[in-house]
Amino acid sequence: MSDIDFKIRSRDIDTLLAQIESYNPAAELDIVKRAYEFADTAHSGQTRLSGEPYIIHPLEVAINLTQLHMDETSICAALLHDVVEDTGATLDFIADKFSPDVAMLVDGVTKISAMKNKSRTIAQAETLRKMLIATIKDLRVIIIKLADKQHNMRTIMFQREDKQRRIAQETLDIYAPIARRLGISRIGSELEDLSFRVLYRDEYDDIKNRLAQREEQRTAYIDGIRYTLYKRLTEMELKPEITGRAKNYFSIFRKMKMQDKTFDEIYDIQGIRIIADEVKDCYAVLGVIHTLWAPIEGRFKDYIAVPKSNMYQSLHTTVIGPEGHPLEVQIRTREMHETAQMGIAAHWLYKENKTAKNESYKDLAILNDINKLFDEANTSVQFMKDLKMNLYDDEIFVFTPQGKIVKLARESTTIDFAFAIHSEVGMKAAGAKVNGKIVPLRTKLNSGDIIEILTSKTGHPAAAWLKFVKSSGARYKIRSWLRKNNQITDEEEKTERKPQQKETPRAEVIIPKEEQIKLSKISENKRSMVSIEGTANVLIKLSQCCQPIPGDDVVGFITRGRGITIHKRSCPSLKRMEKEKERFVNILWESSPQNMYPIKLAVEASDRVNLLKDVAEEISLSKTNIIKVDANLRNKDHAVLKFILEVSGNKHLGEIIARLKKVKNVTNVYKLNEKVVIK
Ligand code: MN
Repeated sequence: MSDIDFKIRSRDIDTLLAQIESYNPAAELDIVKRAYEFADTAHSGQTRLSGEPYIIHPLEVAINLTQLHMDETSICAALLHDVVEDTGATLDFIADKFSPDVAMLVDGVTKISAMKNKSRTIAQAETLRKMLIATIKDLRVIIIKLADKQHNMRTIMFQREDKQRRIAQETLDIYAPIARRLGISRIGSELEDLSFRVLYRDEYDDIKNRLAQREEQRTAYIDGIRYTLYKRLTEMELKPEITGRAKNYFSIFRKMKMQDKTFDEIYDIQGIRIIADEVKDCYAVLGVIHTLWAPIEGRFKDYIAVPKSNMYQSLHTTVIGPEGHPLEVQIRTREMHETAQMGIAAHWLYKENKTAKNESYKDLAILNDINKLFDEANTSVQFMKDLKMNLYDDEIFVFTPQGKIVKLARESTTIDFAFAIHSEVGMKAAGAKVNGKIVPLRTKLNSGDIIEILTSKTGHPAAAWLKFVKSSGARYKIRSWLRKNNQITDEEEKTERKPQQKETPRAEVIIPKEEQIKLSKISENKRSMVSIEGTANVLIKLSQCCQPIPGDDVVGFITRGRGITIHKRSCPSLKRMEKEKERFVNILWESSPQNMYPIKLAVEASDRVNLLKDVAEEISLSKTNIIKVDANLRNKDHAVLKFILEVSGNKHLGEIIARLKKVKNVTNVYKLNEKVVIK
């Protein structure tokens, strides 16, 4: 299942160079070789607890980074990451011999190193704080640190037992969640399993053994699904890759704990992953899956239309698979799959820009996401206040009282902050608190400040604001208001305006990056939905409320970003949608007898011996596949049998109902959600 390799692999510099060349043939291998030789010399004579030469560690960290296709600068920094701390080398020397960027990354990684002699909470808060600063500085620092942790955890058995536990706990609390947040699931899941093994050895072994025992059965089940799917998809000329998806040990353990379930209950849920060629194929595959197996309500998520902040994209759905087991399905393209494995590291994968200072090394959406970890770690206002991040010449990062990060130009004031939050907040600003203290509105902000704007219903902009406001957007709004309210004369305006200013009159409220993606993707999606309407590529879902089947009189409703949902014309939920006539489309059933549709059927009867057996027999006689049965006694002798059946259409269903009505003691047969009394 999980492919952790506990052996220490002795690989050498040639392994590293070959790996780099495999994804970047134009890489500057020379600088990498030099970094290796320097680190080798600097660490010479030092050994790790395993007894191996120390250089093996930085080398393995660098090799880990090649899995994420990182650039040469990061690889060099990985090779040199311990030289400042463990040998006599200085950062200036590294900057000079390699590059200032390499030195900056080494410095960042060194500074994150664990604090000694502090309580767990303080040490962890401290680590988190450093991680945040590092993230703001350059995301590569955090990725190198994660690769460092990955190798240290792989070799943790050489540590003393108490130390093993402390390190594993910190890894589970901080590093694994950060890797997950950044979408680097490859490292995240390995860190989880390695820590889990140290902290809960018995549970780890138990889950590992149970999984091994059931491997054969699982493979057979997944093979069955793959066969059914391949058959159907080949008819549609789609050839995606379908694989079973093994959960990592820790996620099984966490689910058992959090949902209070047994191993078998968690294990019952299988997962498959489908890798399609193109985005439109993903939706087509989803459509096929939803017609083969009944989707579970509320479990469909379209992360293609609305990607996560760490760029993760995929379609997720859970269906009732063969034998009634829930089946979790992920559908994505090859490119999305790489992003899912590498997370933010994939940022630099497709748009390499080696010379320019790459803007994407600092990403506000991810920053906000990492920042959420602070809230979860219950960190204090005090250390937020301590954050002094003088990182860039041109921008500062400040916080709302809720901990949201706002990026502003350097020398911005509380008024700029107020307008960045919302123009209404700016227009009504009456006072401001910085780090809990009331300050004049003209106060200039520093990175790390927490700002609270006090507004007043009767508040309005003042001409004096124009003297200190920094952002052109805010300035424009203030000036328009003043002019409209005759509080500024042309003369005043001229003296106020600095002659060299080149201003574009445009609002500068920051829309979070996720929102931007959401807005553009949705409109894009909607367009393509309408234009491909009626083709196999559109996502079609049979609605859960009325569960239409072929032959039923139906209508399609174009949902926002979720394709078309098919309802019966008689479905009560259509009432809610009536106003939006333009979103209804006509749907015709294709006559294809091979297609089977899952429906839920209820049979009520006064209980008797062999009732279930007789009912099930009638269903089989009508050549119907029973997916799931659920029988219970409503009261002493009133039985309700619920079935999930596969039917080809409403004619087929009619036959089944007619047969069941004749079974002795049956009082009522109806499609669930559509109760009709028959006797
Ligand atoms: Mn290290």
